[in-house]
Amino acid sequence: MFFKRPFEYFLKPIEKSYSKEKGIVNPEASRDDKKLIELLRKTCDEPLKNAKKMPVYPFEELIKKFRTTDLAAAVETEQFKKMAKNGFILKSGEERIYYNQKPGQPSSHEKTNLHLGIDYVVESGLEVFAVQDGKIAGMEIIRKNEQELFEKSGQKLYRGEGGYGNMILIQHKLAGKIFYSLYGHLAAPRETPIIGDLIKKGEIIGQVGKSFSLENGGWPAHLHFNILKEQGAVAGYGSEEDLKKIIDPLKILK
Ligand SMILES: [Zn+2]
Repeated sequence: MFFKRPFEYFLKPIEKSYSKEKGIVNPEASRDDKKLIELLRKTCDEPLKNAKKMPVYPFEELIKKFRTTDLAAAVETEQFKKMAKNGFILKSGEERIYYNQKPGQPSSHEKTNLHLGIDYVVESGLEVFAVQDGKIAGMEIIRKNEQELFEKSGQKLYRGEGGYGNMILIQHKLAGKIFYSLYGHLAAPRETPIIGDLIKKGEIIGQVGKSFSLENGGWPAHLHFNILKEQGAVAGYGSEEDLKKIIDPLKILK
């Protein structure tokens, strides 16, 4: 590994990641959302093979499990390797706390820290499938020499600074309703996708990127997956208001 992430420095175990009073949980789905959730449940394929079987962990529980906030150290353990081989899910709507930050406070890097969407923690290289027919509506692609320059620089990434690395946003329409699926932290695509390109349900749209790379925003290999009700809600973290713009993918998978 060309650098070690200083997770110890800025992540600490979360004492209070949820508050019923403050509503730091996914808001109740509206009646409209429930219809879409039902439709998606009936028709969606998992974005990853066996996704429905994967256990779900709150981030806090993961930290406790490995007795460290240093994920770079945790991923080297046999326990993590086994877990990643089978895959597991980190929840949506969680607040991830940084060093010196209190729950509900904006971090120094971003305005808000509620996780918008779920993380499939899996082995890098795993193929990612489109959940529905649709068309490419947006993307983030790392420029070819960007990763190389990053590696050479020995620069350290802090959460959020790496963005999605390579991300694809697909627009879908089901029963007249438009929505979007988002796939973040993909490996570099062989060919750059084109906005408007048609995608078939179950089509391979990419592979999970490498751990601790620019592709993964400096995190262990994972797919960030989200269902958006509007195209603008593409950030990986956001406010309670932003949570209302998404459909928690777990509601469809579980
Ligand atoms: Zn994520």
